[in-house]
Amino acid sequence: MTYSSGSVGRLGAGSPRRGSNLSPDPFPAREGELTAPTMATKLPSPRRRGTEGEVRPAAFLDRDGVLNVEVGYLDDPGRVRLQWGSAAAVRALNEAGWLVIVVTNQSGVSRGYYTAETVEAIHRELRRRLRAAGARVDAISYCPHQPDDQCRCRKPEPHMLLDAGRSLGADLVRSWMIGDKASDIEAGRRAGCRTALVLTGYGRQERGDVPEADLVASNLRQTVRHILGDLHPPECRANPRSKTKNQKPETRP
Ligand SMILES: [Mg+2]
Ligand SMILES: [Zn+2]
Repeated sequence: MTYSSGSVGRLGAGSPRRGSNLSPDPFPAREGELTAPTMATKLPSPRRRGTEGEVRPAAFLDRDGVLNVEVGYLDDPGRVRLQWGSAAAVRALNEAGWLVIVVTNQSGVSRGYYTAETVEAIHRELRRRLRAAGARVDAISYCPHQPDDQCRCRKPEPHMLLDAGRSLGADLVRSWMIGDKASDIEAGRRAGCRTALVLTGYGRQERGDVPEADLVASNLRQTVRHILGDLHPPECRANPRSKTKNQKPETRP
């Protein structure tokens, strides 16, 4: 199953048949130019763009339960609600010069619960709400498949992170994956990033399944404060059960 439409950026040359849909921020990119092959040169915006070849750390964010409130198969832009503090967290990452990349499993598309167009509309609404709070995400990548599709993008596969990170010039070793499920943490580890489990969304019930998370925090805001150095344990504690340190990414760009 593949998806392409005028507004859905697809991964470029070398992307897999079942590649994820990577839609760069339409702000300030112009309509009709949202194609992934050109994304790296168009994004981030010139204001954010560092010197040529610069690599920056990225915060890979899961969407539902991290950035916005988990409602279970979000199928309507009108139901988008930002998680408390998430816009401030994204803004802080923007100001610190981090890339902010959303990576989300949206199997509801493959299951027929909603369309790729609806996902795109939800992402536009998400960006609009963030922008209203002075925050922006650099890219949103989503997997429309379900497990039976055996795609390569669905988390815990690391490829959404690897592909988006490569496109935008992310330094994966300095990057973090922040999610509310074990599959988020596994994807982050396999991409060579550090990982944080937030206790919003499914975080509390998934907590026992992710002994390997480098950090457990109440929410995205607290995680970002820790990552940017404003907050230290025990206020935001490193996961004592974590035995892992930074690992090599599964594949290097
Ligand atoms: Mg989630
Ligand atoms: Zn997929």
